Amino acid sequence: MDPDEIMQLIVPRLNHSGPFKCQWKDCQYSGHFSRKAVLLRHIEAMHINPGAYDCPEPNCFRSFNRKDNLMAHSRNVHRDGGQVSAS
Ligand SMILES: [Zn+2]
Ligand SMILES: [Zn+2]
Repeated sequence: MDPDEIMQLIVPRLNHSGPFKCQWKDCQYSGHFSRKAVLLRHIEAMHINPGAYDCPEPNCFRSFNRKDNLMAHSRNVHRDGGQVSAS
């Protein structure tokens, strides 16, 4: 699903800057998110694709459903900054 579509479903008419709350129907999470991207990552990881692999970079909110996709992303996008723990 396209992230923008997800946002339209989950956060209708949300035009202020936060904090954001997850509106997913069965969400057990009662906390708030300071940024839309963080909320979106929560939605993807917890509701759309549980068991996903989140990118560990602090300013990156991508998540992947397969570890090799995350590894490829990490190599392509974060190759300057990320720690490499290949052995
Ligand atoms: Zn939620
Ligand atoms: Zn990343």
